[in-house]
Amino acid sequence: MTGFHVLTLFPEMIINGLGESITGRSIERGFVGLEAVNIRDYAFNKHHKVDDYIYGGGAGMLMQAEPVYQCFKAVEERIREGGNIKPLRCIYMTPQGRVFNQQIAKELSGEEDIIILCGHYEGIDERVLEEIVTDNISIGDYVLTGGELPAMVLIDAVSRLIPGVLNNEASSDTESFEDGLLEYPQYSRPEVWRGKRVPEVLLSGHHENVEKWRRAQSVIRTRERRPDLLSETGCRCH
Ligand code: SAM
Repeated sequence: MTGFHVLTLFPEMIINGLGESITGRSIERGFVGLEAVNIRDYAFNKHHKVDDYIYGGGAGMLMQAEPVYQCFKAVEERIREGGNIKPLRCIYMTPQGRVFNQQIAKELSGEEDIIILCGHYEGIDERVLEEIVTDNISIGDYVLTGGELPAMVLIDAVSRLIPGVLNNEASSDTESFEDGLLEYPQYSRPEVWRGKRVPEVLLSGHHENVEKWRRAQSVIRTRERRPDLLSETGCRCH
């Protein structure tokens, strides 16, 4: 089981966003642990204020260091009390991080506990980031209003790699990015839909031919849509 501990100003976004469908079921069944902790609860000032103006000027507000630090410390302590003594990953979701992909998702699916920090406004005071963050991860080269959607993207992608989460264990093995290729096209009933037939080979029952066809389609599709993947993996697929 992997436990995700999300530090956020909007905990309900996380709980509601991941509480349905496959992620929701995997949490209910205990394959995945999820808590969303409100950073505001660790702002020990009169109005539970968590943001302030930015030194040097400029537009917007910045999340202050102390509430984030206190929130992190409280979560870290709880994880330690739970018996995890391994080094902890604290991931800051940021457009300035390593761009998330299936490889990173796989790597994270082996962790026991992962702390995920979500920024808002103009981001978070650099000093606390230096103190607690082990990984900076982005979900792409664009800027969102907060780290909650990126955190949900990461949790969803990592969760489905945890054994037991997908009903059919094999179903993540043949998917896009396994083997450096996109997945082949797939079809379901009926055999003919609006004049379009399912490729004959898939109806043949000849397992080896089906596998060959799928592999060839994967290569064609990857070459057409994501040629960068073929050069990245050095795949000599003809
Ligand atoms: N001022 C920051 C910058 O230019 O790098 C952007 C701050 S953004 C408006 C607010 C928060 O959204 C960030 O602290 C981060 O947590 C999250 N965020 C925005 N875009 C993201 C992305 N592409 N990937 C991951 N997190 C992102």
